[in-house]
Amino acid sequence: MLLELSEVLACPRCGPPQVMVAVVHESVGHRVTRGFLGCPTCDSRFPIEERVVHLQPQGSGEQPEASSPSRVSLAAESAMLIGAVLDLAQGSGYVLVGPELSEMADAVASVAERWEVVSLGGGRPAHMAPSANISRIIPPAGGSLPVLPGRFGSAALAGDPTPDRVRQYAAALRPLGRLAIVAPGPGSVGAMREAGLDLVAGDERVAVASRRA
Ligand SMILES: [Zn+2]
Repeated sequence: MLLELSEVLACPRCGPPQVMVAVVHESVGHRVTRGFLGCPTCDSRFPIEERVVHLQPQGSGEQPEASSPSRVSLAAESAMLIGAVLDLAQGSGYVLVGPELSEMADAVASVAERWEVVSLGGGRPAHMAPSANISRIIPPAGGSLPVLPGRFGSAALAGDPTPDRVRQYAAALRPLGRLAIVAPGPGSVGAMREAGLDLVAGDERVAVASRRA
C-alpha cells in the first residue's frame, strides 16, 4: 500500500470523513509492506500484510470474495480500453478499480504509469508481474466504499453494477473525474446519469461519464 493512501481511505466502521493512521512495521520506499491502519475514533485496526490492506473487521470470519460482485470475463485489451477512455496516459492521481476488475488491475497499472491504481479485492493472477504503482485493498464485505469522497481522478467498474454502487463510485471522484463501466449492463448508463454524472461516451464495450466541475 502506498503510504499516502491513508489520506484517502475512510474507516470502514465509522465511515467518511473518518480517516485512519498508518502504522508502518516494514516498508519499501513509500510502500507499506507490513503494518496496520488504525482508526483513532473507534480503535479498529486493519492489518497490512504483504502490501495488501485487509479492511474486513477482525475476527469476523467474513469472506469478502463471497459477496463481491460476480467477475466479468474480460479480454486483456480491456485494460487498454480503460486506459484510453479514462485518459490515463495523461495527468496523475488515484484510479479506483472495482473488485470485478481486480484481476486486471495490474494491466491497468501498466498503462497508467503516473497514476496509483487502487484495486479493491482479489489477488493478482500468478502470470502477471506485480506493478509498482498499485495498492491492493480487500474491502469490507457488503459495506460501503471505504474511501473519502472527491479524491479519485478516475474509477472503473464492469458489468451491471447496482445504482447504489455507481453512486458510491461517482461520489469518490474529484470534479471532472471519470467513471468507466466496462461491458455495461442495461442499467449502467441510467445509473450513471442518476448519480449526477454526464455521459461522455457509451457503446457495448464501455460507458464513460464524468463528474461535473
Ligand atoms: Zn473508526
